Amino acid sequence: MNASARQQPMILPNQAVRVRIAPSPTGFMHIGTARTALFNYLFAKKHGGKFILRIEDTDVSRSEKKYEKDIIDGLQWLGINWDEGVLINGDYGPYRQSERLEIYESYIKSLLEKNHAYYCFCAQEELEAIKQDQMSRGERPHYPGRCSNLTKEEIQKNLKIEKDFIIRIRMPLKKVSFNDLIRGKVEFDTELIGDVAIAKSLNQPLYNLAVVIDDELMKVSHVIRGEEHISNTTIQLILCEYMEFDPPTYAHIPLILAQDRSKLSKRHGAVSVTEYRKEGYLPEAVVNFMVLLGWNPGTEQEFFTLDELIKTFDLLKVQKAGAIFNPDKLKWFNSHYIKNKGVKELLNLCIPYFIQEKILEKTTGGFKNPKTKELVKESELEKIILLFKERMRVLSEITKLSEIFFIDLPNYDKNLLRWKELDFKTIKSNLLSIRKALEKEDSSYFNRDYLSSKLSEITKKQGVGETLWPLRVALSGLEASPGPYEIMDVIGKEKTIRRIDHAIDML
Ligand code: GLU
Repeated sequence: MNASARQQPMILPNQAVRVRIAPSPTGFMHIGTARTALFNYLFAKKHGGKFILRIEDTDVSRSEKKYEKDIIDGLQWLGINWDEGVLINGDYGPYRQSERLEIYESYIKSLLEKNHAYYCFCAQEELEAIKQDQMSRGERPHYPGRCSNLTKEEIQKNLKIEKDFIIRIRMPLKKVSFNDLIRGKVEFDTELIGDVAIAKSLNQPLYNLAVVIDDELMKVSHVIRGEEHISNTTIQLILCEYMEFDPPTYAHIPLILAQDRSKLSKRHGAVSVTEYRKEGYLPEAVVNFMVLLGWNPGTEQEFFTLDELIKTFDLLKVQKAGAIFNPDKLKWFNSHYIKNKGVKELLNLCIPYFIQEKILEKTTGGFKNPKTKELVKESELEKIILLFKERMRVLSEITKLSEIFFIDLPNYDKNLLRWKELDFKTIKSNLLSIRKALEKEDSSYFNRDYLSSKLSEITKKQGVGETLWPLRVALSGLEASPGPYEIMDVIGKEKTIRRIDHAIDML
């Protein structure tokens, strides 16, 4: 492959911009597919074009409805909406390849008739043996063309006895080049590819064939897809030539690499959008993070909404080099978007995690704590959210962070109550004086500011650390937690007293 400067105008005069993603529903939507969708979407929106979602489900054995649903849900969640395609329809449907088999059949027959393709009856084992032999001689594996010149009679005879076959393209020997919007001039030698299979039967096209037919019939103007498809482009261009199609303009976007620079895969952690969604990443953060995987605005700006991206995104500024996936950066974006949420919205986003962890249970009027059977007020939950908003990096962290608010009594070692070298006797008396002061307060005044001013005299007298450390531990049972006034504000008078009593009992 050799690439030189970009040559072609990005959009031809009077060209209607129509782009697509064509995911195969063979697994949960990969973050790479979502990024490809995002780049296509932004390109379409920016240029007043249409974005199409087509499902490439011709591989029946590997395609599953649940994965199609995952792709649809994931894109909708990210806000990457399509103008035509599955669920929505449009003038060029159906948009599921499995519903287009008759269309492919007519093209396959025509390719066979014109001798651009041929039946191959070689058995799998024979092909495997040939491949091994070629590799042992240091050759690139390719089909040696054994069936390329069968006579009509031989073909008929084989078909009659129902011998298994596939259909191969007759690859002309030449150099194929195209101008990629990102990679510049790209050139391939077809000799290295050989007569690849394009269909398993007359109505079972393989990827390269189906994609070319669909892109033509759906009037796709630009194919923006992952770089892993760059060598397929040669095959697709030859197919365009044979079927007399005008090829689209190509833009191959860089691979997403893990931090060790190998291709991002499951062994590096979460790779599907669903996993990130479940963990509690916000769609705004995922979009913001993804767009920077291979694109750079060339300014200092780091945070972008989808609308801002539509204006700013420039396909021509997408880099050629692989884009490194940094999970910490994603977390950083997520914290930013969490901090910017209003408390009510954030609470609604956190509720499913509380329910999932069985910390809250839905009741008719609101929520209940299933362990203590108490009702939990929304105002109480909002206070909790406010306490952790700055610390939460992903939504799912809220349950662990806020655990102490939903337990009956904390469980801890009494040594944790010790402030520096302070003896237990003094700690006990410090807690007792706090208890006494709190006892007198009306439970409706139990809020942070009021309590902090009320207790200030005692804490000054006894020492701040000497009083507030054991108090905080008595309330939380933790080495690190929000401050005692914040905790008392949330749990209220009765629980506060109970937790202090529990600590005093231990001493
Ligand atoms: N089904 C292919 C994929 O999921 C589509 C590639 C293309 O855009 O041509 O990678």
